[in-house]
Amino acid sequence: MNKRIFALLLAAVLVLALTGCAKKEHSEGNPKTDLLATTQPVYQLTCALTDGTGLCVGLLISESVSCLHDYTLTVSQMEMIEQSGLVLESGLGLENFMEDVLRGKTRIDISRNLDTLPGEDGADPHWWLDPMRYKQAAELAAQELGAQYPEFADQISENLAAFCEKLSSLQDYGEQALSDLSCRQLVTFHDGFSYFADAFSLTIAAAMEVESGSEPSAKELEEIISIVEENQIPAVFTEVNGETGAAEVVAGEAGCAVRTLDMAISNRDYFAAMRQNIDIVKEALG
Ligand SMILES: [Zn+2]
Repeated sequence: MNKRIFALLLAAVLVLALTGCAKKEHSEGNPKTDLLATTQPVYQLTCALTDGTGLCVGLLISESVSCLHDYTLTVSQMEMIEQSGLVLESGLGLENFMEDVLRGKTRIDISRNLDTLPGEDGADPHWWLDPMRYKQAAELAAQELGAQYPEFADQISENLAAFCEKLSSLQDYGEQALSDLSCRQLVTFHDGFSYFADAFSLTIAAAMEVESGSEPSAKELEEIISIVEENQIPAVFTEVNGETGAAEVVAGEAGCAVRTLDMAISNRDYFAAMRQNIDIVKEALG
């Protein structure tokens, strides 16, 4: 081959290698990925850990959702799972609804070593709302990814250190912001903020699980109204994309405010969502 053509070809190959998956963001319409993360917190962690490796990371559930309890996969999401090399899961039952599609895939359940809190049935799956549990999940993910891709193990552990530092400063930010609240009791309308409360020494005074499509009973509402009144709780919390009807009724009766928290599970930077949650709680209960 002529030297000049060879040089041109080599340059083209290099350019392709740089642009192919170098950004690691998974391009729409292409279901093929090396690593597929089911939720935003898992995705953000996987992208951070594999930064600089050229591995292509995809996010399975990328639209704005409150949580995954009523979620159904689309055909293209099923295709993404089928075409991915390795699936990273949030775990603790959050992905139960897609178990059939995941069966047979190589999977990493990144929450399997965590100290859990009790939930509705079994362990509460919303661990990522505690930065320190997120850090533990990151450590496990790094270990497993390092074993899977030994050629990138050093890079991954370097990335892990940087990611953990970000989580530690988020924890510090929350502890500082929420240290002297006049009320430390959260009333929420999704059973999802226990880990958040645990992380920042708050208590859950009530967590009403409002199923979409079903109205809470008058008795349930009255119980929450009296908790809010007795404890003089200044605000109750709904979540982004969640039901708000019950919260409005409680607020109207008890004379408190309604504020919105973010489950930080989809389509938004985790750190931004968490800092905003902390700011909102501080302002509402300060
Ligand atoms: Zn949930």
